[in-house]
Amino acid sequence: MTFRALLLSQADKAVSSEITELDESQLPDGNVTVDVAYSTLNYKDGMILNGVGRLVRDYPHVPGIDFSGVVSASNDDRYVEGDRVVLTGWRVGEAHWGGYAEKARVNADWLVKLPEGLSELDAMSVGTAGLTSMLAMQSLEEQGVGSQPVLVTGAAGGVGSVAVHLLAQAGYEVAASTGRPETSEYLTQLGAKQIVSRQELAELPSGPLSSERWGGCIDAVGDTTLAHVLTEMEYGSSVAACGLAGGNALDTTVIPFLLRGVNLLGIDSVMCPFEKRVQAWGRLDELLNRDVLSAMTTTVGLADVPHLGSEILAGKVQGRTVIDLNK
Ligand code: NDP
Repeated sequence: MTFRALLLSQADKAVSSEITELDESQLPDGNVTVDVAYSTLNYKDGMILNGVGRLVRDYPHVPGIDFSGVVSASNDDRYVEGDRVVLTGWRVGEAHWGGYAEKARVNADWLVKLPEGLSELDAMSVGTAGLTSMLAMQSLEEQGVGSQPVLVTGAAGGVGSVAVHLLAQAGYEVAASTGRPETSEYLTQLGAKQIVSRQELAELPSGPLSSERWGGCIDAVGDTTLAHVLTEMEYGSSVAACGLAGGNALDTTVIPFLLRGVNLLGIDSVMCPFEKRVQAWGRLDELLNRDVLSAMTTTVGLADVPHLGSEILAGKVQGRTVIDLNK
């Protein structure tokens, strides 16, 4: 029995993709096989589809850093045929074939059983971006959130959109920073109370400290934006650094840390321990408003993926993009 997959190949350092038929004997080693229902498009998938950053070393390769679906075969006691599962991280879609195929074979340790209340579509509307946002919010809460609004940067993107909604659902006043003013209404619908222009935060700060504006921050952008935000944090508050859509440099001083007790928290959803993942998925199930989740999600088919991979690198994709493997 064959199944459809988006397969990447490399020739003369250029990466190209085609939709092709594979059979199960071609799948990589693993003790659980999953009928993939949905996967998603993330910034990292954009990099992989365009051969940016040498994240993939072995070709041919099936990308897709996350997926949801139903177990079709298992050699592991924890899973039986019919279990509904989600997978994010563990370098699946980079070092191991991922979710842009109707079937995936993986290590059972990488899977999480879906909470009752989350459908396979909900799970991928959330996806890696949503799990990352939840881990970031939990890290901020562990340190304590201040009284000023909580800022989200790169707000109209995948991580940003889910972060805005989760923070609002948890009762925080959210400020959303975007370079796309036309997304203001969308961000307000997700729960933002204030829209901040990307430009305002992207300039390097004029001094080591500025007025205290933010009681916490989930940052998907990095670079000068992160350097700027650090100077505006409330005393004792934290920035959860998730991403580098604006670049991976960080030109700052130690002053915000010394004189304002600011915490810079690193968020990694890739190698996040199993217990923390299960807890995060459970809280996502509790907090997410399904109508808002579907409003931030666009569903496409496998054939749309190569084009969208370039769009996401150009910062042109809004919210979450789910790939329906049956479309
Ligand atoms: P998206 O492309 O969906 O969102 C990124 C957003 O950042 C864009 O929508 C845009 O928001 C803003 N942006 C893009 N380019 C620039 C720029 N040059 N300068 C300033 N802002 C910019 O990507 P994701 O949400 O999927 O990922 C965001 C980041 O988080 C990526 O760097 C990704 O690698 C990282 N990430 C990290 C994870 C982790 O475990 N730590 C997990 C998942 C993602 P707007 O239009 O609103 O300005």
